[in-house]
Amino acid sequence: MAKHGLWVAASLTLSLIATGAQAAPDLGAANTRLTALLDKNYPALEALYKDLHQHPELGMQEVRTAGILAQHLRSAGFTVTEKVGGTGVVGLLKNGEGPTILVRADMDALPIEEKTGLAWASKARATYEGRDVPVMHACGHDTHVAYLVGVAQALDAMRDSWSGTVVLIGQPAEEPLIGARAMLDDGLFTRFPKPDFGFAAHVSNLPAGVVAIKAGAGSSASDSYSITFHGRGGHGSMPAATIDPIPIAARFVTDTQVVISREKDPAAFGVLTIGAINAGSAPNIIPDSAEVKVNLRSQSPEVRKLLQDGTARVAKSAAAMGGAPEPTIRYLSGTGVLTNDETMANAAVAALTPVFGKSLVFAPASAPPMSGSEDYSEFVDGGVPSLFFGIGGYDPAVLADLKAKGEPAPTNHSPFFAPKAEPAIRNAVTAIVLSIVGGVRPAAK
Ligand SMILES: [Zn+2]
Ligand SMILES: [Zn+2]
Repeated sequence: MAKHGLWVAASLTLSLIATGAQAAPDLGAANTRLTALLDKNYPALEALYKDLHQHPELGMQEVRTAGILAQHLRSAGFTVTEKVGGTGVVGLLKNGEGPTILVRADMDALPIEEKTGLAWASKARATYEGRDVPVMHACGHDTHVAYLVGVAQALDAMRDSWSGTVVLIGQPAEEPLIGARAMLDDGLFTRFPKPDFGFAAHVSNLPAGVVAIKAGAGSSASDSYSITFHGRGGHGSMPAATIDPIPIAARFVTDTQVVISREKDPAAFGVLTIGAINAGSAPNIIPDSAEVKVNLRSQSPEVRKLLQDGTARVAKSAAAMGGAPEPTIRYLSGTGVLTNDETMANAAVAALTPVFGKSLVFAPASAPPMSGSEDYSEFVDGGVPSLFFGIGGYDPAVLADLKAKGEPAPTNHSPFFAPKAEPAIRNAVTAIVLSIVGGVRPAAK
């Protein structure tokens, strides 16, 4: 009864924010069944998360993680293919007639030294761009692999509650934004059934319990470049006999910010970060070249192009002003804006509000997306309309304590990032499984 009342209230709220949403199914019975199933399965999922957290692997090195995921998917009755796009895993479950549904978890960790103090903190190291580095699951992808296993187990146990085909993927290398593309280039949508729509979720430092749904643009586009300025090396005491690439690179670093401050509409989002400068070895040697690494973030195709073109133009001009040859501009990686399907977002709000109550947070298409990026956008741009859930991971008491001290909560990619596995993993499984059972899907074409 209480659930039904909540459902009516939810529908009324929804009709105010999103007219034309699909009627919400009553997921009460499915939620009761899923909750009981998770009560049984959750301890093993948390153990899996802790194991993965202690054994993080960098992008395209996720051999152990992929092996463990493949094993769990097979145990849940999935047909599994490994090494798709490097270390990617694809699990397929056919369950009668119906749509083909994608669910994705990313698997990679980051070159960061963990400082969380957790009993299961990582001490792992790996080789990153030729250097020995510490490795940490500082973006919560360990919880993602655990929720994917939870989704597989639930969809297997609840086959009578849904029909169709699910394609579960463990994606490599989300952080360098190359893994989704690698899986697509390796035939994800041709060797396997092409999904009609899809789901994914990401844990963050939102309060634990929160399940966030954003209609429309959900994340920013990202583009990374390496720009090498070519000079002519020589003796530090004889600059006239050289072309010094260091002042050229320095000029580029400062001048290129003008693209943001003077060329971009001040009301439009755009970020230009110089993340690395590499040149020279000794005070008395003028080097041959200087390399600058640039990262651009934008939320519209127009600003994306403006930043890309502006950066290249300033780089070429800086070289020309220094009497140097044209710089070598190399595109490293990038991805577009991740756009959530509005029909799916509205349908999920209607279906899941009775389940999560006030913890379900909805942001309309008019709200700004986050400044971070997600290469799940490659699947959307590849023709799979999707819904990407935000999952709260921080104990509200911890957040209140930090706020009282005037300290910010550690964000993803902080060496202190320590989301609570529970309820994050349970909520991600619940949001995705009940969306599938509840028939959340895009508008018919
Ligand atoms: Zn990340
Ligand atoms: Zn991430």
